[in-house]
Amino acid sequence: MHNRLKDRIALVTGASSGIGEATALELARHGAKVAIAARRRERLDALAQQLASLGAEPLVLVADLADEAEAQRIVRETEQHFGRLDILVNNAGVMYLEPVAEADLGRWRHMLELNVLGLIASTQAALAGMRARRDGHIVNVSSTAGRVANPNAAAYSAAKFGVVAFSEALRREVYKDNIRVSVIEPGAVATELREHIGHAATKDALNAWADSMRQLQSQDVAEVIAFCVSRPSHVNINEVLMRPTDQE
Ligand code: NDP
Repeated sequence: MHNRLKDRIALVTGASSGIGEATALELARHGAKVAIAARRRERLDALAQQLASLGAEPLVLVADLADEAEAQRIVRETEQHFGRLDILVNNAGVMYLEPVAEADLGRWRHMLELNVLGLIASTQAALAGMRARRDGHIVNVSSTAGRVANPNAAAYSAAKFGVVAFSEALRREVYKDNIRVSVIEPGAVATELREHIGHAATKDALNAWADSMRQLQSQDVAEVIAFCVSRPSHVNINEVLMRPTDQE
């Protein structure tokens, strides 16, 4: 147990599984108090028990973050509950992969609303408080798909390239307010993310690709996020691109 994040207040979105769950626990191990947001209450409640045992005084926020009002509400409720928000980890996301010609635009719209607009809405909501205190760190989870565009991932890459671009423009808007912005771009991570791909051929191909390598674990990404947010306030790690060693 370290105390590098003692007295820091963090909000992690998409904390009911995968990278978000591991990140909430890792920030708690470093001493942060942690609010956790996602749709599945039972998963959040189970995580909250673990967080409580680490002293993180968890706040559970059940929310559909594809809805911009909900994305703003979770920030407001965290600030009301803990008095402020220091670290916002925008991690919630889905990955709907399919060829452009066959794509269900309703699903893609939902993905863009969650992966891009939800992230923008929670970020916007957090800025006023961070600016007033001249202190804050926003971590946005993009992907290698935010750096390299592959067939069948057109809209997912549009979202994740978008997150990278948004993060850099945001950083340049807020750095003078002592607000840090980091964007994390992992390669294949062993999580539930691929389970929701509806296009069978794409899902099978991606699973076979992922199974061919030693994937990153959620904990690997969580440790990087915890490292970024526990640097001294003059250090801003803008971008982290991390792949499994076995990934091309
Ligand atoms: P998971 O599917 O395990 O986690 C996704 C999280 O997002 C869950 O907690 C889920 O919770 C939440 N979520 C999904 N939809 C919504 C919604 N509408 N409102 C609120 N929360 C929502 O996958 P990962 O941990 O892998 O994904 C986390 C992030 O990492 C994503 O942004 C993903 O794009 C990114 N990423 C993942 C990689 C990978 O290979 N796994 C690689 C690079 C980036 P719930 O369903 O309870 O709402």
